[in-house]
Amino acid sequence: MARAPSPKARAESSERKRPAAKRDPNAVLFRGATVVTCDAQDQVLRADVLVEHGRIARVGKVRPSQPVEVIDARDRLLLPGLVMAHVHLCQVLLRGMADDLPLLDWLAKRIWPLEAAHSERSMRASAELGLAEMLSAGVTTILDLGTVHHHDVVFDACARAGVRTFGGKSLMDRGTQVPARLKETTAQSLRDAERLADEWTRHDSGRIHYAWIPRFILSCSEAQIRGALERAQDRGALFHTHAAEHPGEKRAVRDAVGGDDVDVLRRWGMRGKNCSIAHGVQLTPRQMKQLAKDQVGVVHCPSANLKLGSGIARVHELRQAGVTVAVGADGAPCNNNLDPWREMRLAAQLSSPIAGPGALPARSALRMLTIDAARLLGVESEQGSIEVGKRADLIVVRRDELHTLPALDPIGTLVYATQSHDVEHALVGGQWVLRDRQLLTLDADQVRSSAKAEAPRLMRRAGLR
Ligand SMILES: [Zn+2]
Repeated sequence: MARAPSPKARAESSERKRPAAKRDPNAVLFRGATVVTCDAQDQVLRADVLVEHGRIARVGKVRPSQPVEVIDARDRLLLPGLVMAHVHLCQVLLRGMADDLPLLDWLAKRIWPLEAAHSERSMRASAELGLAEMLSAGVTTILDLGTVHHHDVVFDACARAGVRTFGGKSLMDRGTQVPARLKETTAQSLRDAERLADEWTRHDSGRIHYAWIPRFILSCSEAQIRGALERAQDRGALFHTHAAEHPGEKRAVRDAVGGDDVDVLRRWGMRGKNCSIAHGVQLTPRQMKQLAKDQVGVVHCPSANLKLGSGIARVHELRQAGVTVAVGADGAPCNNNLDPWREMRLAAQLSSPIAGPGALPARSALRMLTIDAARLLGVESEQGSIEVGKRADLIVVRRDELHTLPALDPIGTLVYATQSHDVEHALVGGQWVLRDRQLLTLDADQVRSSAKAEAPRLMRRAGLR
């Protein structure tokens, strides 16, 4: 199989840096911001930031040589757009339909029947609701896990919304409680994933990157997982799956495959920088060290782990072991919000009762949603920090709210006090997606009315109402 360009190379070809001398009519200058760079030194600067041709052109005292739109960013924090590194857009419409159940019952009794009942219309309503919620909260990049069908609709919604997207369909070819509509043959599932990868990699937005996503080891055969790993490797794409989530699941996995999922996945070939797992709650110290050695990342999903009773991932130990850790909200039915600020704060706070305050300091929690997340996605040279030449995925956050003042420590304010509606502006690759708290790429009223109309229909089709 011919080696396709890496996600990074593909993105560069689609969002090629144009000659700096050429005037950009969409250039914008953020004047006088407090810039939380998330660079290697965690620098916080009082500076202007000039965006030209979709990239960060200058940081410092800027006197533009050409006319440029100026945004007064005094009393504002300017930081990299946040990365939601594990989310299920297909499940957003399921919010509130599966509360108070443990993981395996939650999946078999509610989530799978509801996913199986999706139509194209309900899938679009679900994806747009999630995208509207996340863009409003300052998320500019997602790693999204689809269900088995209708993933073209999800990618189309992501492309229209302007969010930078890594994602793919769920691969499922076995499992006793999986509905027939969600169970494909190994060949069918891999063939459809190849089709999606081929079609959406060429999409002209340049912001869609296919990821190979076997759902979890209990719903996937060895052949399917090996097939996904090989294709991800050949195409320079991401491989992502759920693993080491819940104690009950851990027992079921041992019964089914004779060992822990991360160990079996490793035996089947899961290693390398392009691989990551979500959750990692049940990992042993030995497994943490092995993941670090294999360069496999972990996405921490604190709210979902608490709600489903999975436990608390030992994130400070993972980081100490050298594992790259990012953060995700997981699905709306197990959270029930897609709020990066809540997840960031929880990630920082949950380490305290385990290892004491400061075990996971605020600056580390912020990095897990910015530069560390970019590293997990393999795009840390292109995004995740505010440095000249990087993509202008930026957000502007108010710091003069009643619940944030006096806001003397910018990073502490962001991690412990900021709420999603404090996000004022957001840009992806220099393109505005949120301005003065108004969504520009999605019609919020339309998103609301579609969600209200489609949710009861979906429940009826699933036989749950
Ligand atoms: Zn998940």
